[in-house]
Amino acid sequence: MRQESTYADSFESKKERIYDGLGVSRGIAIGPAYLYARDELHIDQHQIDDSEIDEEVSRFKRAVTRSLKELGKITAVAQEKLGSQSAGIFEAQSLMLKDETFLTSVEERIRNSHNNASFAIQSFISVSRSRMEASGSEYFQERANDLLDVQDRLIRNLHRGKLLSAIEPNSIVISSNLTAADIILFSRRNILGCATDFGGPTSHVSLMARGLGVPAVINIKKVTKNIETGDFVVLDGFNGRLIVNPSERTLTGYRRLQERYQELLENEKALVPLASETLDGECILLYSNLEFQEEVDLVGKYGAHGIGLFRTEFLFLMNGFHDYDEEAQYQTYKEIVSSISPKVTTFRLLDLGGDKMLPMSHREHNPFLGWRGIRILLDKPELLRPQLKALLRATVDGPLRILVPMVSHLKEIEQFKRILEEVKDEFRAKEIPFDEDVPIGIMVEVPAVAIMANRFAEEVDFFSIGTNDLTQYMLAVDRGNNMVADLYQELSPSMLSIIKLTVEAAERKGIPVSICGELASNPLATAVLIGLGVKELSASPTFLPEIKRVVRSVRRSEAELLAKEVLQIFDAEVRRKKLMKWIRNHAPDYYAFLCESEGSSAET
Ligand code: PEP
Ligand code: MG
Repeated sequence: MRQESTYADSFESKKERIYDGLGVSRGIAIGPAYLYARDELHIDQHQIDDSEIDEEVSRFKRAVTRSLKELGKITAVAQEKLGSQSAGIFEAQSLMLKDETFLTSVEERIRNSHNNASFAIQSFISVSRSRMEASGSEYFQERANDLLDVQDRLIRNLHRGKLLSAIEPNSIVISSNLTAADIILFSRRNILGCATDFGGPTSHVSLMARGLGVPAVINIKKVTKNIETGDFVVLDGFNGRLIVNPSERTLTGYRRLQERYQELLENEKALVPLASETLDGECILLYSNLEFQEEVDLVGKYGAHGIGLFRTEFLFLMNGFHDYDEEAQYQTYKEIVSSISPKVTTFRLLDLGGDKMLPMSHREHNPFLGWRGIRILLDKPELLRPQLKALLRATVDGPLRILVPMVSHLKEIEQFKRILEEVKDEFRAKEIPFDEDVPIGIMVEVPAVAIMANRFAEEVDFFSIGTNDLTQYMLAVDRGNNMVADLYQELSPSMLSIIKLTVEAAERKGIPVSICGELASNPLATAVLIGLGVKELSASPTFLPEIKRVVRSVRRSEAELLAKEVLQIFDAEVRRKKLMKWIRNHAPDYYAFLCESEGSSAET
C-alpha cells in the first residue's frame, strides 16, 4: 500500500504542469531548472565603541572599493554584450558609490551615532528606497531594486563574501526576482533562459534579457515554490509559459519551434544590413519605438532608420518627476540624439493619464476619456515648458522631432504652437541656439483627428498613427480589458478605413505619416499597411527584421489588392486566415515559424 502511494506520488510529480506568466523576451529554452536563491544577507545592527570607529570606517571604505571593482567588471561585460546604454545601469550604481552625500552620511553615522557599517549603509539606503517604493510606480520600484542591489553588494563585501553563487551552466534559472547584474553575470554561464515570480515587462531584467536574446518569462506567481533544481522544463518566451515535465508531444512541438526560431534569427542577422525595400523597389522606412535610454543601442543593432516614438513618460518616471528638470532632461535628450545622429529621434511629449500614472493625486471615473496627454500639458505649463525648452536645446546636438500626444481638438494644437512660439521667442531673446525648423507632429489616436486629418495636416509637419488608442476609441473597446479583448481588432475594416483616410490626407499635404502603435510590430499586418499607402512603420526594435522580411517579399500592386480584400472582411478569424495564407505564399519559411509560435504574433 505504502509502495503504491509512493509510485502514485512520483507519477503525479512527473505529470506535465503548466505555469502562465508574462513573456518578456522571445525564444524557447529547454533544459534543467536551476533554482537560484540569493544568499540571505544578515544585517546586524549594533553600536560600536570609540576605539572601533576608525577600523569600521576603513572597513566601509574597503567594501566600497571592492564593490566599485565588481561593478567595473559587470559594466565591461554589459558594455561588450549589450552596448553602452545598458552598461549605464551599472555606471549609475557605481556613481552612487562615489556620491559624496552617501559616503559622508555613512561615515557620519559610524562616527557620530556609533552605528556599525552595515547598519549605517542600510539606514541611508532604506530612506531613499522607501521614497521610491511609496510612489507605487513600477519604474521607481526598479530604481529601488537597483539601490537594494548596491546595498547587498556593499554588505556582502563588508563580510568579504563571494561575488556569485554558482549557477549550473546551460540551465534555466528560476528565481523570485533577478537584478540586472544577476542577468549579466549569468549570461557568462550560458544560461538558457530565466523565469521569475515577480517583475514587470519594462524592468531592467526584461530589457537585459531581450538585449541578450535570453528567453524570459516573468510574473509566474509562486514559480519558485513549485519547481526544484533539476526539474526538466520548457520555457516559452513567446507565450509566457513554463512547462514542467513536458510530455513527449509537447516537447517535440517545442523542439521544432526552437529550431525554426533559431533559423529565423540566423536569417534575420543577414537581413539587418539589407534595404527595407519592396520587390518593386519602394522604400519602407522602419523606425524603433523606445521607452528607455538603455534601449538606444537596439536602433543600430536591428537596423532601424531612427527612433519613430520615444515615450518620454518613462524617463520622467525613472528620474523622478520633481528632479527631472529642464537641465536633467536636456542631458538625456542630448545623449540620445547625439548617440543616434544622423538618424532622427522622435520624442513624444509627456503622455500622462489614461492607463499611465499621474504625478499628482487625481482620480477619474473614466481616465481614458479624461485628463490625458496634451490636455494635461496645456493645463500644466510647469510640465510642458521645461520639456519644450530641453528638447529645443537638444536640437543642436542631433536631429529630433517633437510629437504631441492625445490631440483631439484643433484648438489644442493651435494653443500648443503658441506656447512653442513663446519659448522660441525667449530663446531668440537670450540667444540660445536651437533649430528653428524642428518638425512638430501629432499622434493620430482619436477618431476625431483621423476623420479631419486633412485639416490637421495643415497645422503640423508629420503624423504618427497610434493604433493602440485609435483602436480603443474607434471600436469603443478598452485596450486593457480582457473581457472585451476579442473585440479589440486593430485590423477591422473600420480601422483600416480610418488609417487609409489619414495616410491619404497626409500624402495630399505632403507630410510624412507613420504607424507607431503595436499594429506596426505585427508582421502579419505589414503587407496590408503597405497596401493602404503606409511608408513608415515604428515598431519594437526586435520585430524590425521580421517586418523587413515581409516588406522585401511584397509588391505594391499585390499589397493594394490584399488591402482592398481585407477591407471587406468583418470576421477576425477569416481575416487572420487570409493574412496567414498571404504570408504562406510570400514568405513560406516565416509562415512555418508563425504557425508554430501560434498565438505570439497572430492577429485575432
Ligand atoms: C498608441 O496609442 O498607439 C501609442 C503608440 O501610444 P501609447 O501606446 O503610448 O498610448
Ligand atoms: Mg496612445
